[in-house]
Amino acid sequence: MECQLTGIVRQKPLNGDVLGVEAQYRKKKMYIKAKKGVVLATGGFGADVVMRSKYDPRLTSEVPTTNVATATGEAIVYAEDLGADVSGMDFIQLLVACNFFTKQYGSLANLGIDAAIFVNTNGKRFVPEDGRRDVLAEAVLKQPQKVLLWMADDTCQKRFNPEITEAIIKDGYSFRADTLEDLAKI
Ligand SMILES: Cc1cc2nc3c(=O)[nH]c(=O)nc-3n(C[C@H](O)[C@H](O)[C@H](O)COP(=O)(O)OP(=O)(O)OC[C@H]3O[C@@H](n4cnc5c(N)ncnc54)[C@H](O)[C@@H]3O)c2cc1C
Repeated sequence: MECQLTGIVRQKPLNGDVLGVEAQYRKKKMYIKAKKGVVLATGGFGADVVMRSKYDPRLTSEVPTTNVATATGEAIVYAEDLGADVSGMDFIQLLVACNFFTKQYGSLANLGIDAAIFVNTNGKRFVPEDGRRDVLAEAVLKQPQKVLLWMADDTCQKRFNPEITEAIIKDGYSFRADTLEDLAKI
C-alpha cells in the first residue's frame, strides 16, 4: 500500500534480464530487486484518454469511464520503453452503463432489457436492445451526443427496486410521462 511503481529496471535499456522495479514509497524512492522475474498486474488504461484513444480513436474525453481513476496504464508504458511487446490493446470492452449526467455507473443498466426500448435523442430506435455489448456500444458511439435513452414501461419499474427508480426521477436523472406524446415533449 502507498507504494507506487515508477519504473522497471533492466540490465541494459533494450536487452538483458529485468532486474527489478523502481518505486516510490511515501515520497521516498526505492528499488526492489526481483528474485526470479517481474509480473505486471497493474490493470488497464481505461481512465487515460490519451492512451486509450491511441488504440481506439473513438474513445475521446467525451466517453465516460467507470474504471477507477488510477487505471492509467503507466506500467505498460514502462515495459514498452524496455522493449516489451503488447497485444490486443485495441480490444477495449465497452458497456453502455454510464449515467449521462453523473458519468457514473447508472442503476438503469440493471433494469433488464426485455421491457425496454432504446432510442437516440431524436427518438429513433437504432439498435436491438438485446445486442452484445460491443454491438450496443458501437451503435451508441454513432448517435448524436453518443447517447442512448432508455425507455421503459412500468413492467420494468415494478421488477426493479421502486425506491431507486423514484430516487433517480427525483434527482432529475430520469423522467416519467403517462403517454408517449408527453414523453416526446421531455
Ligand atoms: C464498473 C465495472 C464493473 C465490472 N464488473 C465486472 C463483473 O461483473 N465481472 C467481471 O468479471 N469483471 C468486471 N469488471 C472488470 C474487472 O473489474 C477487471 O477486469 C479486473 O478488476 C481487472 O483486474 P486486474 O487485477 O487486472 O487489474 P485491477 O483490478 O485494475 O488491479 C490493478 C492494481 O494495480 C494498481 N496499480 C496500477 N498502477 C500502479 C502503479 N504505477 N503503482 C502501484 N500500483 C499500481 C492499481 O491501483 C490496482 O490496485 C468490471 C469493471 C468495472 C470498471
